[in-house]
Amino acid sequence: MHQRIVVKLGTSVLTGGTPHLDRAHMVELVRQCAGLHRQGRDVILCTSGAIAAGRERLGFPDLPATVAAKQMLAAVGQSRLMLVWERLFEIYGLHVAQMLLTRADVMDRHRFLNARDALLTLLEHRIVPIINENDAVATAEIKVGDNDNLSALVALLAEADLLILLTDQPGLFTADPRTDPAAELIPEVETIDERLHALAGSSVTGLGVGGMTTKLQAADIARRAGADVVIAAGHAPDVIARLAAGEAVGTRFPALETPLDSRKRWIFAGPSLRGRLVVDAGAARALRDAGSSLLPAGIHAVEGDFERGDTVLILGPERDEVGRGIARYDRADLERIKGYRSEQIEARLGYAYGPVAIHRNDLILV
Ligand code: GLU
Repeated sequence: MHQRIVVKLGTSVLTGGTPHLDRAHMVELVRQCAGLHRQGRDVILCTSGAIAAGRERLGFPDLPATVAAKQMLAAVGQSRLMLVWERLFEIYGLHVAQMLLTRADVMDRHRFLNARDALLTLLEHRIVPIINENDAVATAEIKVGDNDNLSALVALLAEADLLILLTDQPGLFTADPRTDPAAELIPEVETIDERLHALAGSSVTGLGVGGMTTKLQAADIARRAGADVVIAAGHAPDVIARLAAGEAVGTRFPALETPLDSRKRWIFAGPSLRGRLVVDAGAARALRDAGSSLLPAGIHAVEGDFERGDTVLILGPERDEVGRGIARYDRADLERIKGYRSEQIEARLGYAYGPVAIHRNDLILV
């Protein structure tokens, strides 16, 4: 049985496709969450709808399509949204807490641990964390951008064992159900591959940001972190309660059997990847098959800009992603030691941080 459950509610679920927050449906969702809470389980809500609530509150103003206007709507709407959640959870005698995150809060190891501690402390005190992106301050660089990916980061932070992505579709289909009558619901997905990504296309629902593509990305992150993931319809009767009881609803992505350990989860989840190391075939093989660290000798090209300690992408000779990891040298250093044996690092740079470019413990294969 799942003990710690992240429920992600898309804007389409909260508004029912209208321009207004559907409070009647929100009560219904809270009732189900309260039921899980009563069973002794931990519930975390990841809520969208701030921008929609802001629009509603201001009477649907005509605004320029600027980032600042959206941030204004989010700032107005977030407190409205929170007020509604707070009142609804109060009906069931439950305390809630607001946490607004951006990618910056998981990029830096200290902030990651800090956010995790805050989240775990709330759960320990049986308070329901209600999370959204901090849209009012999130710039392009630190924005997660959609609440699907945000909810996956939350699942990872909270070490959740179930992530429920509620949307306006019953799940993932073999084709677009709006145009293809032969489309069938896929009940379970073992591997998230190119074919599936193509299937998900870039379907976007009315008011929200994410479509199926961001849901697949979210599923991929969360299952590597050890959580089962389900995409299901937010308006299906008792959907949260039924999923938590183990019923097969929607499309399920079982957790990977050997989830990444905590540090590796962070590498996988966190940083936006500003750098790329292209490695030769021998190095790619050593990483994949022999569990080796990445040595400067195996690096063929260094791309992008990054500092020592940043997470970088590792690409094979065909530019296929081999993995990602934390660079022990910055871009300029690697540029000078790539292709050289580790004993030569000090002579080339005048200093050395050790023989490896990326240590095995700081590296995950994809
Ligand atoms: N954070 C946005 C909001 O609350 C929603 C993002 C999304 O729908 O994925 O309005």
